[in-house]
Amino acid sequence: MKHEYDIVIVGAGLAGLRAAVEIGGDTRVAVLSKVFATRSHSGAAQGGIGAALGNEEEDHPEWHMFDTVKGSDYLGDQDAIEILTEDAPRAIYELEHLGVPFNRTREGKIAQRAFGGHTRQFGAAPVKRACYAATRTGRVILDTLWEQSLQKGVAFYDEYQILSLIIRDGQCGGVVAYELATGKLHTFHSQAVLFATGGAGKIYKTTSNAFASTGDGMAIAFRAGAPLEDMEFVQFHPTGIYKLGILISEAARGEGGILLNNDGERFMERYAPVIKDLAPRDMISRCMLEEIRAGRGIRGQDYLHLDLTHLGQAVIESKLAEIASFARTYAGADPVKDPIPVQPTCHYMMGGIATDADGRVVVDRAGTPFPGLYAAGECACVSVHGANRLGCNALLDTLVFGRRAGIEMQRYIRATGSPHRSAEPEKKDADRLRGLMESKGRERSGRIRAEMQATMMDKVSVFRVQDGLRAAVAKIKELQERYPQIAIQDKGHCFNRDLLDAIELGHMLDLAEVIILGALYREESRGAHSREDFPARDDTRFLVHTLFGYDAIRGPQIFTKPVKITRFQPQERKY
Ligand SMILES: Cc1cc2nc3c(=O)[nH]c(=O)nc-3n(C[C@H](O)[C@H](O)[C@H](O)COP(=O)(O)OP(=O)(O)OC[C@H]3O[C@@H](n4cnc5c(N)ncnc54)[C@H](O)[C@@H]3O)c2cc1C
Repeated sequence: MKHEYDIVIVGAGLAGLRAAVEIGGDTRVAVLSKVFATRSHSGAAQGGIGAALGNEEEDHPEWHMFDTVKGSDYLGDQDAIEILTEDAPRAIYELEHLGVPFNRTREGKIAQRAFGGHTRQFGAAPVKRACYAATRTGRVILDTLWEQSLQKGVAFYDEYQILSLIIRDGQCGGVVAYELATGKLHTFHSQAVLFATGGAGKIYKTTSNAFASTGDGMAIAFRAGAPLEDMEFVQFHPTGIYKLGILISEAARGEGGILLNNDGERFMERYAPVIKDLAPRDMISRCMLEEIRAGRGIRGQDYLHLDLTHLGQAVIESKLAEIASFARTYAGADPVKDPIPVQPTCHYMMGGIATDADGRVVVDRAGTPFPGLYAAGECACVSVHGANRLGCNALLDTLVFGRRAGIEMQRYIRATGSPHRSAEPEKKDADRLRGLMESKGRERSGRIRAEMQATMMDKVSVFRVQDGLRAAVAKIKELQERYPQIAIQDKGHCFNRDLLDAIELGHMLDLAEVIILGALYREESRGAHSREDFPARDDTRFLVHTLFGYDAIRGPQIFTKPVKITRFQPQERKY
């Protein structure tokens, strides 16, 4: 079936919907999502969204900018970070006017709370900067933007999974999508496409991410010629529920929760004397693993305790309601009385599809745009998070850069004619699906996925070392070779998870390879990338972004580009 729009947005999380709200109305916009729109992972965001409103105590966008640059371990592009932090207050008031029900201060202003790495006066002490709606911040923003998109006449195609981009003469002109309920292929022709397809936490065994976070957009753009940037920087959030990875938001520590080791010691006081349990995530995750290695895990095992008991029932029930219920349901711990068992969990991709600050996908070091192709949100790398993202800055990124991508796409489609139509753009995908469905191989995608996830968890997570990375890349290559032998058991056309799992696995294997190659190349420790064989940051060799371009024959090809430094020169990062 064929469809025609001015702009196609893939992804109904906050980035996609913020762009849709910007351009809906006079532009024909379709939003495609492989899950029902409001089930996008953005809805799971708990803790908050950062902006220097100064509602609870003095704060300034410049302080927010500094914290983000320092948090990024000086790898974030400072021109883009300045846009992010300067635009943040506007983005929050806009949400307020659209109807987002934020928590309030006594005087009726938007309430704010502390979050990791956010400080006042350039690192002097934690500051309250996160705007929140209890622990359902993402949920309420997502619902509000969805409702606004419907009002603007945006067409939603829920449970449509895109398989490829339509590219003709180097210009992007739409997507090919698979309708989950029927197994039919659909072509969507458009003048511009925005990828807002979210993260890829499912590459790892333990993750806070949703089942849908399989990095499809990054992998599809990569194969279509868009480079991936800084993929080796994968964030592990310190407080996933032990063994499950389900997130206990940083808001728990923002409200005063503390981490304890088996001796009952608040160990973060030793590592980050100024901001302690509110140090950035990369640092706390490393410290937790150090404690576990030193035998101070709880009962000598590989987890620690997050203690909220001193906060009292009233604070826990009113400000941390969802996570209290997660702790009761999934950890069997009532946070009012018991500490919660936690360990680091794969949470966020700092890297992604290389873009500029207007959402244009860029293909080289000079910033040449890929005509008609845009990306925003977690699948994109602008780069505002550099080597480590601060809590509360991801939601902000989706809104600020989702909106900017919307504005830029509208400008682009007015200035550019429609791309040439390709004949039968869906043929390649139809052949691929048929190949998978008819394969007589003996492999199962579940088995390959489990091996990939275990390898990535074991060798490419918080700490990395050359031998381990080499073994990991060899393993991923082996899995890529086994991949074509996958046979699909389910021969049906209605919600064929077996088939979709195999397709998503192909994407994750591509991304896993790029993550490891980036990690091998970067012989230093910076932000979330910690090489035990190169424990220091090396600004002489590695104050650069790493990018990989797709090459079907030679494998991913690396190049680098400089980091934009405008106001804050790199310094040693201490908290
Ligand atoms: C548990 C959790 C808590 C978090 N808490 C916070 C927080 O408090 N503050 C903060 O700043 N950040 C938080 N984050 C991070 C933040 O929520 C995400 O980075 C952000 O919401 C990503 O938004 P997005 O719009 O880029 O993508 P998502 O919300 O992940 O949406 C991706 C969309 O792409 C669609 N999609 C993907 N592939 C395809 C395909 N092939 N075809 C069609 N559609 C496709 C999906 O259906 C979905 O609609 C949290 C993340 C998690 C996992």
